[in-house]
Amino acid sequence: MSDAPTEAPANTREGRTPLISVKNLERIYRLGEQTIHALRPLTLDIHQGDFIAIAGPSGSGKSTLLQLLGLVDSPTAGEVRVQNRVAQDLGNEQRAALRLRTLGFVFQAFNLLQMLTARQNVEIALALAGFPRRKRRARAEELLSAVGLSQRLEHRPLQLSGGERQRVAIARALANEPDVILADEPTGNLDSQTGREIVSLLEELNRAGQTIVMVTHNLEIARRAGRLFLMRDGQIDEVDPGDPESLD
Ligand code: ADP
Ligand code: MG
Repeated sequence: MSDAPTEAPANTREGRTPLISVKNLERIYRLGEQTIHALRPLTLDIHQGDFIAIAGPSGSGKSTLLQLLGLVDSPTAGEVRVQNRVAQDLGNEQRAALRLRTLGFVFQAFNLLQMLTARQNVEIALALAGFPRRKRRARAEELLSAVGLSQRLEHRPLQLSGGERQRVAIARALANEPDVILADEPTGNLDSQTGREIVSLLEELNRAGQTIVMVTHNLEIARRAGRLFLMRDGQIDEVDPGDPESLD
């Protein structure tokens, strides 16, 4: 046994289909006379269990990339595959259904419904995901407990701190049991201590198997991810999150 050549087990990343696969992706915005190359041809695979951070200065194309991964924008060239389906080959309804089935979103500004309680904000997401009505309440409470908010179920967003609002948003993003959570600057509206706590929560979810792609301009936060990509002028490079020199 000891002398046998080591063969990659079938479940290594090499043997598996990526959850999201991006090939030669380009996005050009045209505004009047202006042409903005927001994404240069860019290639990237996201695998089950990844915790990916995409860091880079403002304007480098991070949100553009996340919107393409999230199937809410269409590329100028190249392709995005989600669960091995080419997003551009689907009609709007099929694309929306794929998005609903496989993706969860977290935003910088939380984007909660202000009139609804924490519990109701999560229940709406459960309803959209087709979760049976009579089980929604209990499931919403479970999800909110999982993000540490069992004592805040009936609070409205304005009655919650920024960190608590982002926890509600994360519970909402988990409602459809997404294959991948896409988070755009999830700590951008939070003080640094609260931001670290939110990243700790994302780490905890990742340890439990949740695949996460997080965009941030904060390098300290980005380094805590398992895989780190740096973005500059619409181009992306994978670097070692543990190597301090990689961020120069
Ligand atoms: P980041 O999220 O890294 O700050 P963005 O992806 O938002 O960067 O933007 C990348 C570039 O594309 C920027 O130069 C920005 O001004 C431009 N851009 C973004 N969205 C649009 C749009 N809808 N129309 C035109 N230009 C845009
Ligand atoms: Mg952005």
